[in-house]
Amino acid sequence: MIKRFEDKVVLVTGGTRGIGRACAERFVQEGARVAICGRDADRAAQTAGEIGESVRGYACDVADPAAVDALFARLQEDLGPVGILINNAGLTQDGLLARMKDEHWRSVIEANLGGAFHACRAAARQMLKQRYGRIINITSIVGLHGQAGQTNYSAAKAGLIGFTKAYAQEVGSRNITVNAIAPGYIETDMTAGMGEDTVRALIERIPLRRAGLPQDVAAAAAFLASEDAAYITGAVLSVDGGLGM
Ligand code: NDP
Repeated sequence: MIKRFEDKVVLVTGGTRGIGRACAERFVQEGARVAICGRDADRAAQTAGEIGESVRGYACDVADPAAVDALFARLQEDLGPVGILINNAGLTQDGLLARMKDEHWRSVIEANLGGAFHACRAAARQMLKQRYGRIINITSIVGLHGQAGQTNYSAAKAGLIGFTKAYAQEVGSRNITVNAIAPGYIETDMTAGMGEDTVRALIERIPLRRAGLPQDVAAAAAFLASEDAAYITGAVLSVDGGLGM
């Protein structure tokens, strides 16, 4: 595999499992020094150890702005300034709107949307100083099309698309690109609770007739972070097997 990121420091938020872990693995294969974070220190350290020597695991809840600021200060010391930021940490708390608790609304918005805001703000100084940055926000097909039972998550993911386009305009002149990836149905812990019949019906609707793998999303993230994508900013790249067409 070509090593496109040998001189780069990458942070993948929510890198302990699923799509985030696959992104961390991909950037390591391509020569980067990688940091992952999750809410649990032991799990972050364990995953980092499993992936390899050039990965470090940190505890950080991205919904907490002070924790995110502290993480970036620590990364600057441990690895150097972050050049590539994958805002991947996310969670769902599904339910119909009429019965949705305030807490479920807030926690989903704060992790999925607030987390990206906190990380971009904390990364800004390091990226502006380098006059280089690649930010990739993991949104979702539901941010483009909505999903019943997920008003909170759909709002957060749609918000992330507006955020991506606005921030891309702010920092484009500094050689910082900001793009989003909108995955469709990807096999991870997040989707593991879906029933067999639901999954079968969903796959029938996917033109490529299979579930996505975390590695499919990681490949798109590596492309958007690479020099091949140097003239792409403010874009939303669907990685959904055609589901959202
Ligand atoms: P998983 O549930 O498998 O993994 C979620 C990751 O996010 C974990 O590493 C978890 O770490 C971390 N995380 C969750 N909340 C926080 C938080 N507040 N602070 C820090 N880390 C956090 O999900 P996926 O891999 O499936 O999802 C990754 C991203 O892709 C999410 O943003 C999701 O919304 C999006 N997505 C997923 C799709 C799918 O079909 N799977 C489709 C479209 C989008 P820990 O538990 O260790 O804290």
